[in-house]
Amino acid sequence: MTIQIDIFSGFFGAGKTTLIKKLIDENVYSKKVTLIENEFGEIPIDGAFLKKYNIEIKEIKAGCICCSTVIDFTNTLREIIKSKETERIIIEPSGVGKLSEIVKIVKKLEEDNDIHLNLVIAAVDVTMYEEFTELFSEFYGDQIIHASTILLSRTQNVDDEELAKVVSKIREINETASIVTTPWDDLSGIELLGLSEADGQQILRDDDLSTFDLDFEDHDHDHDHDEDDHNHDIFTSWGIETTKIFPVIKLKSIFEDLKDEAVFGKVVRSKGKVQIDGVNWVEFDFVPNALEIRASEPDEIGRITVIGHDLNQAILDTVF
Ligand SMILES: [Zn+2]
Repeated sequence: MTIQIDIFSGFFGAGKTTLIKKLIDENVYSKKVTLIENEFGEIPIDGAFLKKYNIEIKEIKAGCICCSTVIDFTNTLREIIKSKETERIIIEPSGVGKLSEIVKIVKKLEEDNDIHLNLVIAAVDVTMYEEFTELFSEFYGDQIIHASTILLSRTQNVDDEELAKVVSKIREINETASIVTTPWDDLSGIELLGLSEADGQQILRDDDLSTFDLDFEDHDHDHDHDEDDHNHDIFTSWGIETTKIFPVIKLKSIFEDLKDEAVFGKVVRSKGKVQIDGVNWVEFDFVPNALEIRASEPDEIGRITVIGHDLNQAILDTVF
């Protein structure tokens, strides 16, 4: 039985987790699934949710799977493959994971394992495209260039003209990917996967692969991979656990304030779960152009994370 591997990449806040949850929640996977999750200060999909659906999760937390924890990542993949207990592996890189590197690792493993790289997806927030390509092209562009399917998120928040403009810009850097512009809520998980599987072609070029000589058995960390000078350190994350109550109106005003780059630094993402009054809890998702707040189950403690560039941690301590 060939193990299918799907990679769901996407910059911070593009909706990778929402997407994976949607697919799981709609039961599109009939077989056993293992999810490899790599976080960068991001709040993972909660364990209770995954347990409900019999999804096994492997978290890689100590660093990025495309560089600092590449050995750990590769060994994890090998172990899952060897155990033969799963029929599909979903890889969720962090928001700054370089998709090109992750595809290379899987392609390399494909040579001597019964696995198949099935989907290479990048979730891309259409409302942030212009800004993020300009600010963070190294990671952002890499994901778009190396995806075989690009699922645009928040398309319902822009007009047709804006949408067309972003699609044509993506086309300039990735000629072959299928680009899905339908709002996700209007598509079933099966339809989303179908769209991705139908046109998905691997666009990793042979010459990319031939320059890749990472020796997986080698425990010496001096790979030329490391010379790839991408630097995740331009991003920092801030987080707290809190018992404070944040009324919705207060949350809204905090996130309005967070847009002020001069004060807070460039916030690209925030996510959390907090209590809003004596009884009720909410989960919230913030990207610079959207704040989503939804009712949630109570929890033991509230959690908030903020990810960004040049974050002013001291000021964040005071607002939350
Ligand atoms: Zn990396």
